[in-house]
Amino acid sequence: MSFRASILTLYPEMFPGNLGMSLSGKALERGDWSLDAKSIRDYATDKHRSVDDTPSGGGAGMVLRADILAKAIDDVTEEDDPRPRLLMSPRGKPFTQNRARQLAEGPGAIIICGRFEGVDERVIEARQLEEVSIGDYILSGGEMAATIVLDAVVRLLPGVMGNQESGETESFENGLLEHPHYTRPAIFEDRGIPEVLTSGNHRLINEWRLEQSKKLTEQRRPDLWAAHLARNAK
Ligand code: SAH
Repeated sequence: MSFRASILTLYPEMFPGNLGMSLSGKALERGDWSLDAKSIRDYATDKHRSVDDTPSGGGAGMVLRADILAKAIDDVTEEDDPRPRLLMSPRGKPFTQNRARQLAEGPGAIIICGRFEGVDERVIEARQLEEVSIGDYILSGGEMAATIVLDAVVRLLPGVMGNQESGETESFENGLLEHPHYTRPAIFEDRGIPEVLTSGNHRLINEWRLEQSKKLTEQRRPDLWAAHLARNAK
């Protein structure tokens, strides 16, 4: 069984969007994964097909209704559906390469895209939604966040990335940022390529790359660097 994504959104026409192109698009065509985007509005019950209402207690904006969202979730959830139910949310646990890898090893995901002020808290509890954030900023809707999560997951699925090795040295895979890359031409505006890279000595090249990785991580991401040191001290 390949990875199955079900998306609940007010804008199903946004999918597959970016995911229909390049690596993920080819993988979708091959059937390495599947994507089904459903409109939350299809589950509205009144004649205006409304899905949101004003926040209890007052305040700005609108809130997605728990009853309608629950119906939508239940409809895409199969019996004994093992897929995690992710709610895109700035209050969620920050999405990481680790979580992407876990998801890629699993059966798929049901992904709920919020809009407006967000969703009624009761549906989060009642359907045990896992809130996932893609970073500390506010988007206008969860669709791009869902696209980002799926892009990170799909490229890890078996057979999707041509060169498996490129995945293993990628930033975050070993807790460090990746080393710099170079390619032809040999001279670009008086700048050469570090000599070691043209030496043909793979041991020296690997050492140089690891050094660069460490240096960059220490300079740019003290949080990752501290975690790296802590791991290696064990
Ligand atoms: N009032 C909310 C923000 C709502 S933004 C708050 O302050 O927490 C509207 C929708 O966009 C959210 O329901 C969520 O689905 C999506 N969204 C916004 N920022 C996001 C982020 N950083 N990560 C994931 N989803 C996000």
